[in-house]
Amino acid sequence: MAFTYVCPFCPLGCDDLPWGGNGDWAQIAECERASAELASFKHGTVARLHDRLIDDQSLVVDDFLRRLKLPAVPILSVNQPTIEESKRLVDWLVQSRIRLSSAERDPSERAFANTIGRDGNVTATLGDVYRHAKSIWVLGDPDETFPRLNKQLDRLKATVVRSRQIDSLYLSRLSEPADWLLRDYVGIIVASNAFAESEETIAADLLSRLIAKLNAPLDDRRMRRAVAIRLSSDENLSSVMRWTTNHSLDRYSTDLAAHIQVGSPRRADFSARPPVKLQIGGIDFGPDAADAYLPAGQPGIDLAGTTIRLDGSVTLPLTRQVETHLPSRGTLLGQVIASLSADSASPIETGNKR
Ligand code: SF4
Repeated sequence: MAFTYVCPFCPLGCDDLPWGGNGDWAQIAECERASAELASFKHGTVARLHDRLIDDQSLVVDDFLRRLKLPAVPILSVNQPTIEESKRLVDWLVQSRIRLSSAERDPSERAFANTIGRDGNVTATLGDVYRHAKSIWVLGDPDETFPRLNKQLDRLKATVVRSRQIDSLYLSRLSEPADWLLRDYVGIIVASNAFAESEETIAADLLSRLIAKLNAPLDDRRMRRAVAIRLSSDENLSSVMRWTTNHSLDRYSTDLAAHIQVGSPRRADFSARPPVKLQIGGIDFGPDAADAYLPAGQPGIDLAGTTIRLDGSVTLPLTRQVETHLPSRGTLLGQVIASLSADSASPIETGNKR
């Protein structure tokens, strides 16, 4: 019998991935990322050190650690951790056993999150905007981080207007907003690259003020509603961090490049950054992306877990579809961290020196 399940590969959390009852992997025609991740998982990946593939994964972790010379407190980049994985990550962060790399976090996303946190801006869920908004303004480029979002928006009846990298001048000229911004319910979606480079903070502030201004009476009985949707690519980890410590991820983050990548890299353009030393799980893009690779189980495919949708609206179950007996990402990372902590000879570095 065929059924559907929640996709674990990006925070959009699409819940319509088909799983063939005959055991065939589904083709995700609408989403290249899910298709690529599923194909990689289906065909199986093996451990790799530089360009040498290693079939026998037993004893690989210690051997890799000897050769890779990771620092005692490695910097991590983690793609789409589940809530369960996030709890372990938060423990390790608080204990100063790892740090997070913010080098790949989008400056517009960070600036707008700070503005919303400070101003308590009017926000809504994606589902509410999909159902009720008359106009939707998409700022930035959601395709890379949330591949199916634009396709979902194209199916709506609402007017959808897209802008990229708007600057403070553009926003300040909106003191006389266009007609489509003056409809009775406007949803504003802020994705990566929403604001012009180095203007992220001021642009986020101006947008926040514009949203406040757009919330005005339409007539004696009706209010015009304008809401912001912040699409967070770190919703699970930042939520668990807030619940358990009341801190933001920034406190434990560094702008330095990561030593360890958990899951697939968020961006498949490796020309602008050095390879990480070790990647655990996800798609293996070869030595350009990581010096070494360890295959690992994927929550939502061969492991169970839970995840929060990117707008924080709902917690979704990630169910196990197949049995692979691969170690989980958390188990492998735990082995790496325990080994590094125990190895007093391992020098503590402050960055990813290459
Ligand atoms: S958009 Fe994200 S959640 Fe939806 S199918 Fe693609 S990778 Fe999965």
